[in-house]
Amino acid sequence: MSLVIVAAWFFWGVAGGTIVTTISSAICLIICAVTGNGVYMREVLLFAGIAIFCHVLLEKERKVRRRAETRLERIQGSKNTLQLAYSKHRLAGKSLQTRINRYLMLREVAQILASSLDFEKTAALIVRKTLEVMGKRGFCLLYLTDVEGQKLALKASWESKIKSKTGDEFDDWVLKRGQVLLVENVEKDFRFGVSDAAKERRVGSLISAPLISGERIIGILRVDSEELNTFLTDDLRLLSILATLAAVSIENAQLYCRTEELAITDGLTGLYVHRYFQERLGEELERAMRSNSFLSFLMIDIDHFKDYNDRYGHSVGDIVLKKVSKVLKEKAGDGAIVARYGGEEFAVVLPRTEKKAAIKIAEIIRKAIADEAVTVRRKKTNITVSAGVAAFPVDAMIKGDIIRKADEALLRAKTEGRNRVCAA
Ligand code: GH3
Ligand code: MG
Ligand code: MG
Repeated sequence: MSLVIVAAWFFWGVAGGTIVTTISSAICLIICAVTGNGVYMREVLLFAGIAIFCHVLLEKERKVRRRAETRLERIQGSKNTLQLAYSKHRLAGKSLQTRINRYLMLREVAQILASSLDFEKTAALIVRKTLEVMGKRGFCLLYLTDVEGQKLALKASWESKIKSKTGDEFDDWVLKRGQVLLVENVEKDFRFGVSDAAKERRVGSLISAPLISGERIIGILRVDSEELNTFLTDDLRLLSILATLAAVSIENAQLYCRTEELAITDGLTGLYVHRYFQERLGEELERAMRSNSFLSFLMIDIDHFKDYNDRYGHSVGDIVLKKVSKVLKEKAGDGAIVARYGGEEFAVVLPRTEKKAAIKIAEIIRKAIADEAVTVRRKKTNITVSAGVAAFPVDAMIKGDIIRKADEALLRAKTEGRNRVCAA
């Protein structure tokens, strides 16, 4: 019976234990009353003792459990706080890593741009690297302004199917204010009425920064996204840094290009100088040889130019030289290399041109110059030219020979009466 009571206390708790103890004590009391044997009263006392003992034990166990639970709750609380701090730090770490990556990429871009002097390559590099450094999906556009700084022209784009080459209202905004621009939702931004061009481009959000050189805005660097709210102020800051790098490298490339152009073009006529012509003739001859193609060469000289100078003055002679150069450039065609061979002599290289076609071109040039009148002191004056034609491979195979043959033909044209074309 005692074991049953103990089991009841431990398995059913206070309520179960009390009921079983009461029932057991009641049974003992009934037996006591029926049998008149007082021995069973001892059992009742024993049960009561067991009940008190079990109750105390249970209470103690409950207290211990409650304390453990409280401690567990506290631990759980600390765990949650730690977890929160951990995820916060992880986020901060991630953003720091992104910033470090951006910085490293930015450094790499700066190094690449600093060493890039080819304008086209520099422009293409800027739009590609901008998206790469930003790590965003979108389209990057690079516009440059004209000399007056009024109109924009698209110079390079990355992943963009843009049709408008002159910029839209967003670009005008940046150009006018010289400030960076962040548009989170193109359709809801109160500053702009969205044009059809922007809709056509399916722009959701964009960032844009001016390219500033000294006091002047030389262009715009812009990133478009089809989605809304793509960019953060951090991205805008990065774009601004990239725009600064881009402005410097574009200026460098343009300056280099201009210096190179100055080195190979003649100041008065704008035609190529003798040295450059010699280089190009060599290259074109090699190419013609490799590809089994043709090449023709014209040597052109102004007739009686000394007399003309003597009669009208050197400055009028200079105007004539410019006019002749213009005609040469226009009539020789796109692939031709037109150079000032020296004084009033000109050289024209015609790649992939057969001798017959070259003679025709020379004739067109001769006629055009003869028809072009130069007005001096309200009086119309005319000049003529003579030309010699030589061709590869029919007349000569090497550079020196082809020039000599054309020169000989030119001399013949002079002795035969000038204002004519002679072929080798
Ligand atoms: P020809 O018909 O035989 O070619 O006679 P030409 O007088 O044209 O030939 P010549 O070689 O005797 O004279 C060339 C002249 O070209 C001499 C020079 O005054 C003139 N000349 C050369 N360079 C320049 C230039 O840069 N500007 C001007 N105005 N004249 C030039
Ligand atoms: Mg002459
Ligand atoms: Mg001459």
